[in-house]
Amino acid sequence: MAKATGGTAAERTRSAEETEQIMQALVARRDELQAEYDQSLSEITELQRERLADSAGDDQADTGTKTFEREQEITLANNLLERITQVERAIERAGEGNYGWCERCGNQIPVERLAAFPSATRCVSCKQLEERR
Ligand SMILES: [Zn+2]
Repeated sequence: MAKATGGTAAERTRSAEETEQIMQALVARRDELQAEYDQSLSEITELQRERLADSAGDDQADTGTKTFEREQEITLANNLLERITQVERAIERAGEGNYGWCERCGNQIPVERLAAFPSATRCVSCKQLEERR
């Protein structure tokens, strides 16, 4: 195998079975994140309600803590939403068949790695090479 760098990659085919596996892993991941997100939203609502309910009798410090908790919860929710978007983009790309290939060496990224890091664009060895630098 001589000049195989960049451009039209040769064997960019995954078996249908594997694609199916990736899809399932991604969808499962999305559902997981979605559940976390819903949970987070209801916690925000809950904190909001608490704050309103006893803000009359609260001292300043207590109100401050609750506002802080709520802000943290909102940040968490935003992060989750961001990750959901990433996974959804990955699902789309997987459907088009151009997902899960290392952008550096062109090898397949293992299904397990994609399930754990849906936004991974490099295989483990390329990632390690990069980190060692
Ligand atoms: Zn690679």
